[in-house]
Amino acid sequence: TFDVLVVGGGPAGATTAMYAARKGIRTGLVAERIGGQVLDTAGIENFPSVPHTEGTQFAAALERHVREYEVDVMPRQRAAKLHAAVDGLVEVEFETGAVLRSRTVVVASGARWRTMDVPGEQEYRNKGVTFCPHCDGPLFKGKPVAVIGGGNSGVEAAIDLAGLASHVTLLEFGDALRADEVLQRKLNSLPNVTVVTGAQTTEVTGDGRRVTGLTYRDRPSGDSRNLAVEGVFVQIGLLPNTDWVNGALELNDRGEIVIDARGATSAPGVFAAGDCTTTPHKQIVAAAGDGAKAALSAFDHLIRTTAP
Ligand code: FAD
Repeated sequence: TFDVLVVGGGPAGATTAMYAARKGIRTGLVAERIGGQVLDTAGIENFPSVPHTEGTQFAAALERHVREYEVDVMPRQRAAKLHAAVDGLVEVEFETGAVLRSRTVVVASGARWRTMDVPGEQEYRNKGVTFCPHCDGPLFKGKPVAVIGGGNSGVEAAIDLAGLASHVTLLEFGDALRADEVLQRKLNSLPNVTVVTGAQTTEVTGDGRRVTGLTYRDRPSGDSRNLAVEGVFVQIGLLPNTDWVNGALELNDRGEIVIDARGATSAPGVFAAGDCTTTPHKQIVAAAGDGAKAALSAFDHLIRTTAP
């Protein structure tokens, strides 16, 4: 039995485990992939005090830091179900059938970007295809880029990138943008942005090393068109990894775990942190901060409840 069992080994889960272990309480961390989304990241340049690092390096340092403490680290385990507290113990059931019990659980199972699933997208990932304007925008200074998706994220990304890129083309699949009116007005006021609606991206093209453009189908006419760009920002949704807690915790309409400012969920003794939650602005430093808050909240909960 643990005092704090963390599910997830990305920035949120790793930070939670460190904070919990530093309180001298029994801490476990289970994760499919220690490092999380950071493992899929090339350069990271927005973590304070670290001007530049690589995703794999950051993930390895995160794991080393966790292992400096007394944390029972259990990698390559996939949680399948969360069972609310019975007799003060929360249960996590794994795909293998194993069950772990803990007085508190912190869910930090993160999220994954929705991909277009077209040729070239995977091949040129981190070579021009990117999912994060805050992270990679500066790499495309003075270059033409495309943003895929006309919802709030896509339009925000296009506005953001217009200040850096030479030109931004925003491609929306439907016949109108879906972003808030105020964002659309801002977008339309920018001189170096073109909006194309009814556009279905069919391929990301490149020279083998970097992205050089993309191909899209103009849905009204059925014609195939090419666009020369050096960056493709895919903004068609972030999917939280929360299927396994569905039914046990309150989720919002996007499937994110609803948390309060302390990281508490709808279930007693269960806290959550990072990209799997309703926290805005999905970033490494934000996820790590959420992890610290969730661990300290779990500790507050423990000192207020009697040991079973
Ligand atoms: P994640 O990193 O998603 O970690 C989730 C963890 O939970 C993983 O260990 C995963 O294996 C585990 N998990 C999931 N489901 C289960 C399950 N059922 N059972 C057990 N374990 C499970 N942010 C920045 O600040 N700067 C950047 O430069 C940057 N670049 C990025 C580039 C890319 C390509 C991507 C995809 C994201 C980038 N981000 C960047 C965003 C950042 O990576 C995330 O905000 C951050 O990793 C979220 O941390 P997290 O711990 O909440 O979740």
